[in-house]
Amino acid sequence: MTKSRFTGNFTQQDALPETALDAALNVLKSGRLHRYNLEPGEEGETAAFEREYAAWQGVDYALAVTSGGQAMQIALRAAGVKAGDAVLTNAFTLAPVPGAIAAVGGEPVFVEIGEDLRLDIEDFALKATQSGAKFLLLSHMRGHLCDMDAVMQITNSQGITVIEDCAHTMGATWDGKLSGNFGQVACFSTQTYKHINSGEGGVLTTNDPHLAARATILSGSYMLYTRHGAGPGPEFFDDARLDMPNNSARMDALRAAILRPQLAGLHAKITEWNRLCDAFLDRVRSHPAIHVPHAPNQEMRVGSSAQFRVPGLDQPQCERLIAACADRGVEIKWFGRSEPHGFTSDHQSWRYATPQELPKTGAVLAQLFDIRVPLTFSTADCELIADIIIEEVSVITGVLANGSN
Ligand SMILES: *Cc1c(COP(=O)(O)O)cnc(C)c1O
Repeated sequence: MTKSRFTGNFTQQDALPETALDAALNVLKSGRLHRYNLEPGEEGETAAFEREYAAWQGVDYALAVTSGGQAMQIALRAAGVKAGDAVLTNAFTLAPVPGAIAAVGGEPVFVEIGEDLRLDIEDFALKATQSGAKFLLLSHMRGHLCDMDAVMQITNSQGITVIEDCAHTMGATWDGKLSGNFGQVACFSTQTYKHINSGEGGVLTTNDPHLAARATILSGSYMLYTRHGAGPGPEFFDDARLDMPNNSARMDALRAAILRPQLAGLHAKITEWNRLCDAFLDRVRSHPAIHVPHAPNQEMRVGSSAQFRVPGLDQPQCERLIAACADRGVEIKWFGRSEPHGFTSDHQSWRYATPQELPKTGAVLAQLFDIRVPLTFSTADCELIADIIIEEVSVITGVLANGSN
């Protein structure tokens, strides 16, 4: 019997809408790509995007910047992180998260995750007390929101400022409230692999006018901060404009122009992502050896990627599973690799941070696999990918899929 093969592409994004192409062309024709290069009375694409993003997110202030990583660095600094300050963060996240903490001179304190890939609330409470940290950079890694009620209760009672990393949760909700609207400030990414795509880019949101003013100056506004579509009034800049350094991280008009139509279409994309992701997860979940992270009822995730674990596999077996799937066209990422690879790395390879023991996280990541769910996939694609994974897991574990004999 010949084995089925998947011939699609895991890194091929959907094309930008025609309206984005038209908007981009208009900016290019004008030659005015810098956000402050405006005609008298003109709002400009970047300020307009900020205004629309603030409305979409339901917040007072939005600031567009060059990347999600820059949004985090600026947010940390605007929130008051100083050199030497401890900053709590998830042990399972992407490298720009500890990178942003290091960039502002902070000391990452890693918090364990549970089998459901979310922040371990018990370990968080313990480390918050032990470290005395006054900041939490909460990374909603791969779109899995932790118990937001529990985490906010602890941070509120201990006076810990929460900075949300929403790179994977633009549009996701916890108990009906949008991710990013829990902490004092939130950071989003508009990098190609996230939910709206400008190649590189980021957005910072907050309801705190003082924080917003500091962030605006940090982003490199010079004294042109009144030209922000969703920024605080000039009265909030008296100190910020002199206290904050210019970090030159402005978003240009071209990127903002292509993001605006995408934001308008985001709800429809979220529905489609969740449909595709569920088609995949419902299938792999049926295999007795495959565990899909438990999703709390309060969570509405955006299924732009899918995660599953095969508990009990050792390192060579994990490698064999990846190779066997790759042979059949299925590209799986694995978080248990001992060496950083592609986009993935773990806390042991972040040598600028003080080494920390995270046995629970290590045990979860050892058999954690991940696939991208680009919108160029169909439901049939997701089912085929799931079937290939199921077959190869059966071969490696010797555990048969439900319904096979
Ligand atoms: C991509 C990503 C970021 C940062 O985004 P960039 O725009 O690439 O800097 C932050 N956190 C997580 C979890 C990410 O995956």
